[in-house]
Amino acid sequence: MSDVENCIIIGSGPAGWSAAIYAARANLRPLLFEGAMTEENRVMGRFPMGQLAQTTEVENYAGFPSGRLKEFIDSAIDPSRQYMYPPVEEHPHAVTGPELMELMRQQATNFGTRVITDDIVSVDFSKKPMVLNSSENGSFQTRTVILATGASANYLGIPSEEKFRNRGVSACAVCDGALPRFRNKPLVVVGGGDSAVEEASYLTKYASKVYLILRRGEMRASKIMQERAFSNPKIELVKFSVVDEVLGDEDPRIGVTGVRIRNVQNDQTSTLEATGMFLAIGHTPNTKFLGGQVQTHANGYIAWTQPYRTITSAEGVFAAGDVADDYYRQAITSAGTGCMAALDAERYLAHAGVH
Ligand SMILES: Cc1cc2nc3c(=O)[nH]c(=O)nc-3n(C[C@H](O)[C@H](O)[C@H](O)COP(=O)(O)OP(=O)(O)OC[C@H]3O[C@@H](n4cnc5c(N)ncnc54)[C@H](O)[C@@H]3O)c2cc1C
Repeated sequence: MSDVENCIIIGSGPAGWSAAIYAARANLRPLLFEGAMTEENRVMGRFPMGQLAQTTEVENYAGFPSGRLKEFIDSAIDPSRQYMYPPVEEHPHAVTGPELMELMRQQATNFGTRVITDDIVSVDFSKKPMVLNSSENGSFQTRTVILATGASANYLGIPSEEKFRNRGVSACAVCDGALPRFRNKPLVVVGGGDSAVEEASYLTKYASKVYLILRRGEMRASKIMQERAFSNPKIELVKFSVVDEVLGDEDPRIGVTGVRIRNVQNDQTSTLEATGMFLAIGHTPNTKFLGGQVQTHANGYIAWTQPYRTITSAEGVFAAGDVADDYYRQAITSAGTGCMAALDAERYLAHAGVH
């Protein structure tokens, strides 16, 4: 078992790195677990560097106006990690998600944050100091924990979907929509909320047509988003339907060729030709490893036990970012609550006379 840490941060999105920057500058010598580079994490969208690492341009994170950022980014990030972001020539107009995450990571390590590339797989918050067990690096003791493990996209859970994941099945239009297999071809989006309309609209930039599969006869999306779907000639609503099976070819160069849908009113099935199926049916917060030791809301997101404080039901444990936010789910709000969690942890330690 390691020496007792003051502050362990779990998660490597904007919340985790922002918490690390604040905790490091407060001399807490934070230790951050950024997740493991496993195939399971990649497929589940839990790879190190968080959700933004899966996307292209980020145009709404304050402080990064459009422009040529190459010289700044290259000068700021350690050359050994510059392979992590795409050549700036490909995205000259705004900072990309991978670049933004590398900049945050660099800023956190510049102030002395120690980083371990591994998952925390279980915890014991009843012990003081608390114990965290990692997948490959043993156990760690700590006085405070900041949970910043984010959320992952939901899938339908049918075997054929798993079989064709990353061969035409995706939960991220922004990440994958521009791939050649989807260009000028019909695509399917599953879901009826705002994010489903967002994904479908985005995909119409590339696809010949987008079928939006709705279980009910109407969308859950806000009125303005519904209007966006209705007014887009490339989007066709397929009501009262669910996807029963993803159809395709084992040859990875071909992958998805269509979906079999079932009408939930009359049980009749039919086939839609499509080279891709995009899921937009919500996210699940990454809390499984906590084994129920922190109170959550009914939907599984971690509950703050005091308004505007990142305090959780477990003493010395704070939560930041999407893992505790089913509402805003933005990089900048995650970074903001990451800052709050570090300040809350520092004050907790000061109050305990440790720091
Ligand atoms: C495709 C896409 C595009 C987006 N575009 C934008 C945008 O343009 N602007 C914007 O503001 N927001 C955008 N978002 C939303 C934004 O990415 C999220 O709100 C933000 O990343 C949440 O940050 P976070 O720090 O809470 O967690 P995440 O970014 O979800 O990162 C958490 C990370 O923690 C790690 N982790 C999880 N569990 C463990 C564990 N047990 N042990 C160790 N590590 C673990 C994983 O590596 C995981 O990836 C986008 C999201 C997606 C998916």
